[in-house]
Amino acid sequence: MNDCLFCKMINGDIPVNKIYEDENVLAFYDINLQAPHHFLVIPKIHIKTLNDTDDAKLLGKLILTASCIAKELGFSDGGYRVVMNCNEQGGQTVYHIHLHCLGGRALTWPPG
Ligand code: 5GP
Ligand code: ZN
Repeated sequence: MNDCLFCKMINGDIPVNKIYEDENVLAFYDINLQAPHHFLVIPKIHIKTLNDTDDAKLLGKLILTASCIAKELGFSDGGYRVVMNCNEQGGQTVYHIHLHCLGGRALTWPPG
């Protein structure tokens, strides 16, 4: 049995605030916005962490999907950040890889 929250979203078992979907990826708004724009891009296959894949094509698609959406939503020129948290010290809480895309305000660096 797959208890993964994001797999359940992909399968339509729980509702999702979808922005974009194709055969490989799904993008949706984060439930806990950290910026005026904050969405996640996930692969449709279950991959636990960034340590568990060498699929460069799929990882590249996550990033390009984020940039396309940022352009489409009109905040790409202002700037944005894409980030993937890995494992406990990286701040990962959902163990199905996901790219965060945040924009719409000035972001500080380094993050906490
Ligand atoms: P992580 O901390 O693993 O990098 O990011 C997980 C993200 O998933 C968090 O930003 C969290 O707010 C988001 N999240 C957790 N549960 C849900 C949910 O049920 N729906 C949505 N849309 N986002 C969620
Ligand atoms: Zn999953």
